[in-house]
Amino acid sequence: MSIETRTPDHKGRAPVPRCVLPTLEHHSIESALVDALNAYGVAGLSIIADGEIHRFDAPDKRRGNLSGWYVCPTHEIAVYGFWHTGEQHTVTLAGEHDPIAAEQARQAARRARQARAAQRQREQAHAAKRARRLWASASPAGRGHAYLVTKQVAPYGLRQHGSNLLVPLYAEGQLVNLQRIAPDGGKRFIFRARLKGSATIIGRLAATSRLYLCEGWATAATLHVATGCPAVAAMTANNLAAVGHALRQRLPSEVAITVAADNDRGTEGNPGITAAREIAAALRADLTWPRFPCADCACTDFNDLARCQAPREGVA
Ligand SMILES: [Zn+2]
Repeated sequence: MSIETRTPDHKGRAPVPRCVLPTLEHHSIESALVDALNAYGVAGLSIIADGEIHRFDAPDKRRGNLSGWYVCPTHEIAVYGFWHTGEQHTVTLAGEHDPIAAEQARQAARRARQARAAQRQREQAHAAKRARRLWASASPAGRGHAYLVTKQVAPYGLRQHGSNLLVPLYAEGQLVNLQRIAPDGGKRFIFRARLKGSATIIGRLAATSRLYLCEGWATAATLHVATGCPAVAAMTANNLAAVGHALRQRLPSEVAITVAADNDRGTEGNPGITAAREIAAALRADLTWPRFPCADCACTDFNDLARCQAPREGVA
């Protein structure tokens, strides 16, 4: 590396020096990776360059998240990333455009993804077992449960464990997860259980000509009461697409699907309607959302609409 002598140019301006950016010299892949991770706020790792996948806590998530990972397929290359953001980077001592190093990095990243997928599957299988045990030990939900009273809906097939309601979530016909609803409406899923593509249903699919797809269980209950049609709750806006595609595959083509969105009118970008519009277009499904008579209250879904206390025009 040569550093140009600084001499003022003919216009008297200071010249732009060439080649004065500091280059970080690394003698080992360990120190190169430590520096790269430092830039992400990850400190205090002692790197093990043994070709195995190692995990660490991402600094922007809860302690124990283990969302960060790295692997050093050789002593010249490290690949690292974060599962929760999907980002992935390569550090190399071999020069950025070394094709062999690039191929080794790709293979290491693929191994890391496979290991991650296998681990998730094991975790979800364990969680599903816990869900089935809890479900089996629970009793039919009481009509007087505070959440059901608040939402003004019947328990349908829900069960109750202690003071928690249990909403069963199925995927491919198997119970894989439970949503536990506390009397105050606080909701939790089984730790590390599968959510994507899992859902719960109110009403019967057999012989129906239409089915409603929505986010929350209470919304599904209200839709079922109002229409007589079966209603499937995907729990979250993010899960509507996976559930919608699974339903479309499973149902006869003459069964129409209506995506009943939450109207998140108070949230920037209205995530409920945005997600529902996308999935409705992808499934060629119908789309509806609640139009509220109220402006000041926190109503967002069809259950809220059914209970909204705002005065309605034209209603005596
Ligand atoms: Zn309202």
